[in-house]
Amino acid sequence: MLKLDHPAYSAEDTFAACISRVRAPALKARLVSATQSIIDASDAYEIAAEAQKLDQIVRDPLVNGTVTTAEMEAVYTDRMAQQNTPGRPIYDGIFAAAKGRCPLCAHRAVTTLDHHLPKTHYPALAVAPLNLVPSCSDCNKAKLARVPHSPEDVSIHPYFDDVDGERWLFAEVLAVAPASIRFRVEPPAVWEALLAERVRRHFRGLNLSALYGSEAAEELPTFDICWPPYMQPGRPTKCAPILKSTRKVASQDDSTAGVGPPMKLGQRATGSATAVSQRSVSEPLRALSQACSCRPTNLRH
Ligand SMILES: [Zn+2]
Repeated sequence: MLKLDHPAYSAEDTFAACISRVRAPALKARLVSATQSIIDASDAYEIAAEAQKLDQIVRDPLVNGTVTTAEMEAVYTDRMAQQNTPGRPIYDGIFAAAKGRCPLCAHRAVTTLDHHLPKTHYPALAVAPLNLVPSCSDCNKAKLARVPHSPEDVSIHPYFDDVDGERWLFAEVLAVAPASIRFRVEPPAVWEALLAERVRRHFRGLNLSALYGSEAAEELPTFDICWPPYMQPGRPTKCAPILKSTRKVASQDDSTAGVGPPMKLGQRATGSATAVSQRSVSEPLRALSQACSCRPTNLRH
């Protein structure tokens, strides 16, 4: 969940660009006459998004009473998403703003634009830049055409929600065979209840625990998990486990430093959850390493 700036394109200019090459006179006239409705819908969307009330956006299968949902979907698909169409430069500009990383999962590569409110149900927002979010294909598929039925249902919006300021993602090393990391959401107390619940549902809906866990599992074999001598596996502690390179574990320096032997991966450890950043899987592993201040010079960075 990464914050992005608002796109630098207005709904009016985007819609005008998209329909600029429509040749059928009757369709062109209906689309042009819908311009103010498109502008109004985008303005109402912005106000609702800032108030975390996108669930209250009214669904209407007709735009301006004359343009159908299928026609608006075609405006997006055929005149904005396709290569060499008049709306494509705007599509590309919105796409590029994410700098390659999907802001919804903060991990996978951007491959498409996601309609935050699906165009199937909100045709007036089909080409509204504020409703178009760079996304990876997995997050795009996971969201599908879901319609929010309550404020808590509204997934985190990279243009309007900023959850980067506080820690909300926590990880726990599970000393099982094979070792793994379990991620979970613990919203900070300063968050209002609505934002906290939206983050929980976003995390669950996109199955981010499984994504982060599986990616972390690929990196865990490069570490041995060691414990300070006063910290026993199975006993709750405020200290994090120390993730160390195998080379370090075997060194004389470590044995004289009083760090315990590598934990056997069949052992069960508890009480060692550590706050991490959500930005990447490597970053949580680094955060886990750096979280323990017992022997910072022994840690792998
Ligand atoms: Zn994603």
